[in-house]
Amino acid sequence: MKNKEITAPFGLHWFRRDLRLRGNPGLCWNLEKTRGRVLGIFFFDGSFLARPDFSANRFAFFMASLKRLQEELRERGGDLLVLDGGPEAGFQKLFELLSQRGHPKPATLSFNRDYEPFARARDGAIENFILPLGIELHTERDHLLVEPDEISKDGKPGSFYQVYSPFARRWFEKLLEPEVQNRIRLADKKPVDPCLTWAEPLGHEAQRLDQLESYIAENSKAVTIPIPPAGPAAARAALKRFQNKIDDYARDRDYPAQGGGSGLSIYFKNGSLTIAQAIAELELGREKFATKDGRSTFLRELCWREFYYHILFHCPWVEKQSFVAKYRNIQWENSKKHFELWKNGQTGYPVVDAAMRQLKQTGLMHNRARMIVASFLTKHLLIDWRWGDRYFMKMLLDGDMAANNGGWQWAASTGCDPQPYFRVFNPTLQGEKFDADGEYIRRYVPELRALSTKSIHNPSSIERAAAGYPEPIVEHAAARLRAIRRYQ
Ligand SMILES: Cc1cc2nc3c(=O)[nH]c(=O)nc-3n(C[C@H](O)[C@H](O)[C@H](O)COP(=O)(O)OP(=O)(O)OC[C@H]3O[C@@H](n4cnc5c(N)ncnc54)[C@H](O)[C@@H]3O)c2cc1C
Repeated sequence: MKNKEITAPFGLHWFRRDLRLRGNPGLCWNLEKTRGRVLGIFFFDGSFLARPDFSANRFAFFMASLKRLQEELRERGGDLLVLDGGPEAGFQKLFELLSQRGHPKPATLSFNRDYEPFARARDGAIENFILPLGIELHTERDHLLVEPDEISKDGKPGSFYQVYSPFARRWFEKLLEPEVQNRIRLADKKPVDPCLTWAEPLGHEAQRLDQLESYIAENSKAVTIPIPPAGPAAARAALKRFQNKIDDYARDRDYPAQGGGSGLSIYFKNGSLTIAQAIAELELGREKFATKDGRSTFLRELCWREFYYHILFHCPWVEKQSFVAKYRNIQWENSKKHFELWKNGQTGYPVVDAAMRQLKQTGLMHNRARMIVASFLTKHLLIDWRWGDRYFMKMLLDGDMAANNGGWQWAASTGCDPQPYFRVFNPTLQGEKFDADGEYIRRYVPELRALSTKSIHNPSSIERAAAGYPEPIVEHAAARLRAIRRYQ
């Protein structure tokens, strides 16, 4: 039996990494277009589980974010269906079900753009599948404030920046443009209240299609860390906490024990919050590139994120190989034994070990510590940056291809605008400088807790033996020289 819900036009919004309602541009467009008759969908692709960068912990956080989204939609009378199979199979299944029940196809489909190579190929295929069906397809920007092709070198279409500073200068100028200012202003625009009653006629069948609970239950067995609070409310709470600290950000951000960062990367990753929303809430956007205060420094960090997306978009091959061609044939040592010791925080360099253990215990690592351990792996141990990149993606809750790849290639000196190859961090000095009183080391390397601040960064052999802590697996000066020679 048909009723008015069945025949009135409705839309689908395909959620991917935009897991929120508030200020969601694709969803807002669709809600306006269909007068609030939008069903949220998410396609779970089983092949994702087999990807080398799959992380059960990050997946658990993602699923928790998805769950919040589903709850939020249900509270408003709408719904989110989490469908099995990739998007093409999922769309087909949904359309078949609609047709069996006498519903028309959806009038609209919206989604927000993604820039990773895999996602771009997938979205292209879906466009080709959807458009011939007469469904109006609409995509929006969401994940980035300035999209990768909106900044080009010397204004030449298709050209791109390979060096951060000129890119960032341009990005800061771009933020002042009225269109971008307007976008920041609208970033928090609430979607019209959804009244998604059309999902009702799908009845129990829709609920049976929904796989979210079973994914959560199945994956939870593999989770190894406490999963932080997920979803937009948790993201807003983190943002509020950071609001009180932003003026000290330039000073505090480099010290792993201080927690001077915003803690927002996990929320940006899934779109529980966007950088446009953070900029709006923190009342940023008119700062100057070169100013050294907390607010400009924070904006420059957000800009690193957009820079690495700019690079990944224009050079998708960086996912698999070095940006700089001459470093594609570095003769890596690739010692499996050293790699295991590094992963397990047993290198004998306290700050490196603290960082690696933080990663294992929390799924996160402070930015300074990421730089130290990535430099140590690639330079001291001469292990291929791709091994480290992959391990980080397995472990990090905020694991994000563009930023992770950019960070690794920066540290390994193989990327665009990298750390010069001859700059090899001395891990002991890095510890002394950025963890002066050893608080970070004491937190994650408990066997060294009782050591004095003077010796904690480089314990004597006697202290190591007494604490059950290993000798350094490589000697710094010799490893440094070996790395420089190898790169030369
Ligand atoms: C080897 C290596 C791997 C990294 N892997 C990732 C990753 O997988 N995902 C990820 O989000 N960040 C990654 N980073 C960047 C950075 O370490 C994290 O973004 C940051 O530690 C997250 O904490 P926060 O949100 O408190 O950062 P804040 O200091 O508060 O910075 C604010 C935001 O700016 C962005 N940002 C900050 N620093 C960088 C940077 N160097 N590159 C790109 N974006 C940045 C992030 O979105 C971050 O949330 C990596 C850095 C290195 C050196």
